[in-house]
Amino acid sequence: MRAVIMHAPGDVRVENVDRPAIVEPTDAVIRLTAACICGSDLWPYRGIERLRRPTRMGHEYLGVVDEIGADVRDLAVGDLVVGSFVASDNTCEICEAGYQSRCVHQVMMGSIGTQADYARIPLADGTLVKVPGEPTPAQARSLLAASDVLGTGWFAAVAAEAGPGRTVAVVGDGAVGLLGILAARRLGAERIIAMSRHADRQALARRFGATDIVEERGEAGVQRIKELTGGYGAHSTIEAVGTQEAMEQAIHVTRPGGHVGFVGVSHGVQLDGLDLFFSSVHLHGGPAPVRRFLPELIDLIMTDQIDPGVVFDLELPIEDAAEGYRAMDERRATKVLLTV
Ligand SMILES: [Zn+2]
Repeated sequence: MRAVIMHAPGDVRVENVDRPAIVEPTDAVIRLTAACICGSDLWPYRGIERLRRPTRMGHEYLGVVDEIGADVRDLAVGDLVVGSFVASDNTCEICEAGYQSRCVHQVMMGSIGTQADYARIPLADGTLVKVPGEPTPAQARSLLAASDVLGTGWFAAVAAEAGPGRTVAVVGDGAVGLLGILAARRLGAERIIAMSRHADRQALARRFGATDIVEERGEAGVQRIKELTGGYGAHSTIEAVGTQEAMEQAIHVTRPGGHVGFVGVSHGVQLDGLDLFFSSVHLHGGPAPVRRFLPELIDLIMTDQIDPGVVFDLELPIEDAAEGYRAMDERRATKVLLTV
C-alpha cells in the first residue's frame, strides 16, 4: 500500500509499504477513505521538530473497518468510522473524566501514520466512533476535519469557556483557529474577534462566525482588542499556534478572570512567572481530547448543522503529498486533503 514518509525537513515521499496487520486483539485495521495534512506536520517539515529516522506521517482519519481483532466488540467490518489523533481505551479514569487524549493507555496515531491506504487503530472500541448513514462528499470532508482540527478547535473553545455573553479572541488563523471560531459560535459566544492578516482566512473566519477582525499583533494587537472590549480584554481566548509570541498574545488579550484555551503544540514557549501571576487568567489546554466531542460533532455534521470541511482548500491525490506539504508550508493552502 502507499504511505507518506518524511525523510528529512522538506523531503516528503510516497512509498510502498506493507499493509498493516492486527497486532493486539483490541486493534482494527481501517481502509482510509481520505487523509489530510495537519499544521502540526509542518513542525518536522520545517526542521523545528527533529526527525530521527524516516517517519510515517499523518494522524487524522476517516475510514472503513477492514479487519478487527478478536476482542473488538462494538465494531464490524464495513463500518465507517472516525477517531482522534490519540487512540484511547475510553474506560480509564482519565478517559471517563473526558481527557481521552491523555488516556493511561494512549497511543499517538502520529506514531502509526494515517497518510496511507490503510492504518492500524489500537484500542479500536475506545478510539473509533461509528458514523451513522452514508455521508455526502461534503459531509465526508467535515468528518475528516472532526478527527483533529475541528475537535481541537472545539476543545479550545470549551477550555476557554466560550459561551453566551462572552467575547472570544482567537489567536491563529490556521484550520484549528478557524474551527475554534465555528465552535465558539455554536457554543453561543456573543462576539468573536479573529486575529488574522490574510484576506482569504479572514473571509473564512467571518463565514464561521467571527464578528471582528484584528490585523495588529503584539502590543498593538493587545491594545486593539482592549479598545474593542471597553478596555477589559476578551473573556475567552483561543491560542492555536504554539509559539512564544502567540501564547503571550493570548494571555495579554485576556481580561483578568478570563480563560485561555491553548491547543497550539508548544514549541519553545517559556512563560514569565510574574507576567503570568499578574495576568490573573485561567489557563487550560493541551492535546485536545477530541474523542470526548466526536459523537456530538458527527451528529452536527450528519445533520448539516456545521460544515467544517470547507477548511480544506486544496485537494490532491496522495501521490502528490509532497506538493501538499509545500502548499501548506508556503501558506498557499490552509488545509490539504489527500485522496486515496
Ligand atoms: Zn483511558
